[in-house]
Amino acid sequence: MPSTNTYDPAGAGPVSRQGRKYTVRRWSVRNARFLEWLYIVFADMLLDLHPLWKLIGYQRIEGPMVFIEKHSKGFLFDCRMCGQCVLSSTGMACPMNCPKLLRNGPCGGVRSDGNCEVEPDMPCVWTEAWKGSQLMKNGDAINTVQLPHDQSLRGTSSWLRATAEKAAQRKAMK
Ligand code: SF4
Repeated sequence: MPSTNTYDPAGAGPVSRQGRKYTVRRWSVRNARFLEWLYIVFADMLLDLHPLWKLIGYQRIEGPMVFIEKHSKGFLFDCRMCGQCVLSSTGMACPMNCPKLLRNGPCGGVRSDGNCEVEPDMPCVWTEAWKGSQLMKNGDAINTVQLPHDQSLRGTSSWLRATAEKAAQRKAMK
C-alpha cells in the first residue's frame, strides 16, 4: 500500500530495524580473517605482558580486563562473556548467541534462509560461523569438538585465562 506520508525514512520498517541488530555481528564474520590476525597480535602482546600481570596480580587485573573484554567483544560479537572463548574456532561468530547455546554446530532446525528456528530474524550463528571459518587461515579449527561449557567461568575474562595458560605452558617447556 503506498505511504500517505510525505517522507519515508530509509530502513524505517520493523524488518530493517530488526536486521540492523545483527549488522556489527555480521561485519565481524565477514572480516574474520582480519580479526583472527588482530587477536593473534593482541594475544601475543598479553602474553609478553605476563610478568606485569603477575606483578600486579591476575586477580587484581581481572576486573578492568573483564570491563574492556565485555564492552569490546560485546560490540563486535554480541559476546555473552562465557569465559571460555571459542571465536577463533567459530569463524568469529559467538555460539553463545544460539538460543540453544550449541557450541558444536547447528541443531536440525536451521531455516531455508539460514536463519534461526527460534529467532526467525536472526542468522543462525552456525551458518555464520561456517562462512567466517572459510575466510580464516585457521578455519579448520571449526572441526574441533568443543568440551561442555564450564558454567563457573561465566563473567570472567577469557583473555586473562588464555594468557595465564599459555604462560604456564611456556614455562613448562623451558
Ligand atoms: S564464545 Fe564466550 S567469550 Fe567468546 S564471544 Fe562468545 S560468549 Fe564471549
